[in-house]
Amino acid sequence: MKLEDVKKIAVLGAGAMGNGIAQVGLMAGFKVAMRDIDQKFVDKGVSSIKDSLAKLASKGKLTEDQVKDCLARLDPIVDLASAVKDADLIIEAAPEDIDLKRKIFADIDKLSPKHAILASNTSTMSITEIASATTRPEKVVGMHFFNPAVLLKLVEVIKGGKSSDESIQVTYDVAKKMNKIPVIVKKDSPGFIYNRVNAPTSLLLQQILDKGTPKPDDFDAAFKAFMPMTPFELLDYVGLDIILHTQTYFSKTLSPDYTPTKALRNLVDAGTLGKKTGKGLFDWSAGRPTINISSPTTEFDATHMIALQVNEATKLLEEGVVDDPKDIDIAIANGGGGIGPFTVAKSIGYETLVKKCEELAEKFNLGVFKPTKTMREGKINV
Ligand code: NAD
Repeated sequence: MKLEDVKKIAVLGAGAMGNGIAQVGLMAGFKVAMRDIDQKFVDKGVSSIKDSLAKLASKGKLTEDQVKDCLARLDPIVDLASAVKDADLIIEAAPEDIDLKRKIFADIDKLSPKHAILASNTSTMSITEIASATTRPEKVVGMHFFNPAVLLKLVEVIKGGKSSDESIQVTYDVAKKMNKIPVIVKKDSPGFIYNRVNAPTSLLLQQILDKGTPKPDDFDAAFKAFMPMTPFELLDYVGLDIILHTQTYFSKTLSPDYTPTKALRNLVDAGTLGKKTGKGLFDWSAGRPTINISSPTTEFDATHMIALQVNEATKLLEEGVVDDPKDIDIAIANGGGGIGPFTVAKSIGYETLVKKCEELAEKFNLGVFKPTKTMREGKINV
């Protein structure tokens, strides 16, 4: 199978990610069926796509004719069999639940053409485990978009244990045709690249919350000058329930060091989830929280966060998840903005970063913060 053979894409799930992915597919010229379990979810997804296309047209990025052409190729649908029966690529963007994903993959394996590639947009789950619910694991891959899918360029193309090179190549080529920047993840590993590199910084924030000091305002105050969205504010933005879910997954798959802290559990149990509930660590009732920047912490600074990211990135190299450090920098720069960790490391110097990791490992008594061998050697060139 080749890129030219991909004419129709079926996107399963019309939620935040599903409708964004469907729109990206339409803008790249594919026919797209967007399926959800209830008409009201499909309708909501269609109206998001219409709003977003209209916004792009008003900015002069699309003509009115292009908008019409995109919408003419969209098939909003509830019936699964009709959605996938003639699809060449199926991208699943249903909720992050392994049993649900395995059920969906078993169903589409039966209902879709034999040549179709089955991709999951999962943020954390094992592609190999999802693929084992099908009779065609060589055609199952990860195709991980970032939120918002219409704007962010990174797509992680993940090789499951049995994915064929051909399936990976076609998925990579489709992502390119969608005007994205795909990066191949060579080994199916928790968090893939972007979420894995950011896992220890999220852990650090949770440890600080549990300790009770510095307060989120004081911590974020130290980052306000150079970050459009500060670290604790970002946790609220993503949603503390999602953070807890990911953290629990990492505690089982990466290290018990990721075991969710009491402070995080309490916030989630109390229903204070962040932006989506209007309150989390900060008050979001006015749209965006006001962070009190009067007393920035001096205990932590950006170098601590960078040190943890670079350290985790070296683990991806050591574990063979990625061969080329440049791919990690490309992924981080295009998955949410910012500069790649190895590029930053070059300007700060590995010696300083190693010291920061050692300091944090000792302060919180956590092995995942300890500097790796690659970090100590400090020889990575990008
Ligand atoms: P969401 O809750 O906004 O949307 C999920 C949609 O799937 C809902 O509309 C739901 O009705 C629908 N659904 C449920 N069962 C289904 C089924 N059997 N078939 C088809 N649709 C079904 O969730 P989301 O944020 O769009 O996340 C979807 C997936 O994308 C998850 O695996 C998530 O981890 C991943 N992801 C999310 C983000 C993010 O920032 N939101 C980023 C990257 C990846």
